[in-house]
Amino acid sequence: MRAVLAPEALEAIVDVLRRRDWRVIAPTVRDKAIVYEEIASAAELPVGWKDVQGPGSYRLERRDDEARFGYAVGPQSWKRELLAPSVRLLQIKRTNGSLEAAKDDAERKRTAFFGVRPCEVAAIKIQDRVLVGGPYADEDYLARRKRSFIIAVNCGEPAANCFCASMGTGPKAEDGYDLVLTEITDGSHRFLAETGTDEGAELLAELAQQPATDADVAAAQAVTDGARERMGITLEREGVHELLLDNLEHPRYDDVAARCLACTNCTLACPTCFCTTIDDVNDLSGESAGRVRRWDSCFTLQYSEMHGGGTRRETKSRYRQWLTHKLSTWHDQFDTLGCVGCGRCITWCPVGIDIREEVAAIRATQEAKS
Ligand code: SF4
Ligand code: SF4
Repeated sequence: MRAVLAPEALEAIVDVLRRRDWRVIAPTVRDKAIVYEEIASAAELPVGWKDVQGPGSYRLERRDDEARFGYAVGPQSWKRELLAPSVRLLQIKRTNGSLEAAKDDAERKRTAFFGVRPCEVAAIKIQDRVLVGGPYADEDYLARRKRSFIIAVNCGEPAANCFCASMGTGPKAEDGYDLVLTEITDGSHRFLAETGTDEGAELLAELAQQPATDADVAAAQAVTDGARERMGITLEREGVHELLLDNLEHPRYDDVAARCLACTNCTLACPTCFCTTIDDVNDLSGESAGRVRRWDSCFTLQYSEMHGGGTRRETKSRYRQWLTHKLSTWHDQFDTLGCVGCGRCITWCPVGIDIREEVAAIRATQEAKS
């Protein structure tokens, strides 16, 4: 189903979902960045803002229109809603001499993700494959995923670090959503809405709408075509799996290690990175004990700790592990690459290390040899 919505219909979307007692998580401006938070009104969207991104830099600027989605992705991803940064796996309390296991008290409401970009839809599909697509499903992730409802928004304003077009994950979402919107600002501000599921169609049916004409569909296509053209091909996917595995001792890894701070930002901001660790937490009185899972990163020394110490003691080996996993061995494990081209690891790297540049540098020497 397709229809055209006026900008005011976004408020109706939020109203309908909140009347159902769903949480609505959407982009909003906080601390000079666009973050994902629960909203109560579409007025909380970043109306009239755009983001200017570069390696190691990010700032918001005013647009000269009232676009609701005139920016790319910010520091957070939907990972924090599905693979939460911290999850209590177990809590045991001593009560009157006996031990009681407390139930998980995590939020159980249905949750609408409003404003999911196509690369982020692709990242969710990758995490689905990793976390619930094998023989053992991650129960917490699965429960959160089943509660989710995805309203995607196709991209018309890629940031300088976006390269979804070269990873085949955007700027137009092909599937994986309940409803997808394309914002059209060609003089008549409107949204082309397209449904992906029956639930998406039920929501659309509750909104004031106009039939979509061929001109509306063409205008929406022009939005994503324009975004694709402005992005170009920025990471050559062809042959990258073999390229990296054939160059494990490439001198470029010494170069990047001299710049990398091993700060973990890239992995925490990445929408597909899924590494976690588990902490046991006991109180001093001995009355309560718990087990907590929290995000971890392959950039820490502790991550590969075994008897005798960490196996990746140098930053060089940690960066190489990350890059080769993203673009080579991830494919061997999960039949997909581990990168969707969102650009977050470039923008939020404090020293501006750029995955596209690192791959290109290795490829350049390979091509010079052949
Ligand atoms: S590796 Fe970088 S560009 Fe690729 S998905 Fe992760 S954060 Fe985005
Ligand atoms: S590549 Fe950048 S963001 Fe990632 S660990 Fe190194 S310095 Fe931090």
